[in-house]
Amino acid sequence: LVTPIARKKWELRHSDIELSKRLGYGQFGEVHKGKLKRYNRVLGVAVKFARVSATSKEHIKEMMREARLMRNFNHPNVVKIYGIALDNDPIMIVMELVRGGSLDEYLRKHAGRITEVEKMTSMVSGAAWGLTYLHDKRVIHRDVAARNCLYDKNKVVKISDFGLSREGDVYKMLVTRRVPIKWISPEVLINFTYTRASDVFSFGVMCWEIATDGADPFQDKKTAEIREILLSGGRLEWTPNSPPDLVDLVTKHCWGQRTEERLTMIELTRKLENLTGVKQPV
Ligand code: ADP
Repeated sequence: LVTPIARKKWELRHSDIELSKRLGYGQFGEVHKGKLKRYNRVLGVAVKFARVSATSKEHIKEMMREARLMRNFNHPNVVKIYGIALDNDPIMIVMELVRGGSLDEYLRKHAGRITEVEKMTSMVSGAAWGLTYLHDKRVIHRDVAARNCLYDKNKVVKISDFGLSREGDVYKMLVTRRVPIKWISPEVLINFTYTRASDVFSFGVMCWEIATDGADPFQDKKTAEIREILLSGGRLEWTPNSPPDLVDLVTKHCWGQRTEERLTMIELTRKLENLTGVKQPV
């Protein structure tokens, strides 16, 4: 059982945070490298905050929701949050600094040079452990993709970007939003209903991204065409050098048309552990 970060530790002040270079751009804001000063100690951190022009009530609510959810997580394959600074504008979310970058960038940058072992253990298994942990906490991530994972210098993958995540067993999207169709399961396309099984489908697409060194799923196919492929049971095509065990696992156990045809993350984790011989470190 993980207890949330205590309130006093959780509420940070702007004066505790020193920002330095920008690490990346998010949907509404920026992520900077920074230092967190607490109890005479200085910790290297990543700080996420909204660009002033993008700040709306809805967006602040979303950032707060993301931070509150992340507060309950404590796992090596899930990005940790240290706290949130609300005493001034902009609101800042202070997170674990992952020295590396997003997984999709890493894949493309090192294309052709990443071993099958690294893909199967560090990337696929690590992400499976992280997602298993989140599912165990009754969280549906809703946006599993290589661009939403970070990959650190020690080759540890960390699931990140909980902007769309929800607690519960089912989440029905009521407001129609633009969805990343290339990662989405058939049932979400039809009835906008997200479950842990729809995360499993997206996890399969992420495995495909790993296998193809960060290729763009369905390349430049149009949305309507992708929709038709997915709804009629068609799936992404694998490149010849994709790890055969991974192709088999994803095709058989992540990409079933119906949710009941897919394995759960814990079942996938067990299968991966049998394939690689690498167990989740405790
Ligand atoms: P948003 O949710 O607003 O889209 P992201 O969480 O995707 O923002 O972050 C944008 C970028 O910032 C990422 O692609 C990554 O390069 C960088 N980044 C985000 N979080 C961290 C972190 N904890 N450590 C290091 N870099 C990070």
